[in-house]
Amino acid sequence: MRSYLVAGNWKMNGSRAANAALLRGLRDGFTGSPGVEMLVCPPFPYLADVARELEGSAIRLGAQNVSQHESGAFTGECSAAMLSDVGCSYVIVGHSERRALMGETSEDVAAKFVAALSGGLRPILCVGESLDEREAGHTEAVIDEQLDAVLQAAGVSTFAEAVVAYEPVWAIGTGKSASPQQAEDVHAHIRARVAGHDRQVADKLQILYGGSVKGDNAAGLFSKGDIDGGLIGGASLKADDFLAIATAAMAQD
Ligand code: PEP
Repeated sequence: MRSYLVAGNWKMNGSRAANAALLRGLRDGFTGSPGVEMLVCPPFPYLADVARELEGSAIRLGAQNVSQHESGAFTGECSAAMLSDVGCSYVIVGHSERRALMGETSEDVAAKFVAALSGGLRPILCVGESLDEREAGHTEAVIDEQLDAVLQAAGVSTFAEAVVAYEPVWAIGTGKSASPQQAEDVHAHIRARVAGHDRQVADKLQILYGGSVKGDNAAGLFSKGDIDGGLIGGASLKADDFLAIATAAMAQD
């Protein structure tokens, strides 16, 4: 049986009241599935609250960012151990918004990936090209650079404890998803790149697609052999929309 992950990246959205309503809807609508895991990644201030609200549910908790450092004089940062301590099991690293807006390099992302694993978290490593890079025919080269930095720093065996998310920058928040075949081509490339180091790890690696996934395009994406779920922004903020995506994953079983 295939194993899907449907992960919600709330970005900088939410409030205590809005989160409670969203989680109530998700808890009522998703009671667990052997082949599908659901994850929510709220902003830092809400993590502990959300962890409490998720107790006894089938929904997992993740964060959107992590420091590469363990502790100390890093004002404003948050360590992997702290995130584990409040109930996170996953963390997103290398989201394109952090690469573009916060200047995170592939080396920074690799350091965060290593720190996440050391702190007991499963990293979701985001990779993806911009529209200019795709149009110039550089998609695979961009993905390779982002992936190789992590493979080199962490070693391929760590990918047994990690997830990769292919998120073409031009598809994030634009309403313009990659077609299932466009996404599948890049997913197959990612799996082959990891297989070049270790085929067994590559075969088991979950590779998510992210970029304007909605209830009405999720089934087509998830039907592809190398697409093992989604990293979902906008549609993860509405219970009905996110549940429709999870249902599309459950229907693949
Ligand atoms: C994201 O935030 O990673 C994302 C894919 O957003 P959206 O689903 O809104 O395109």
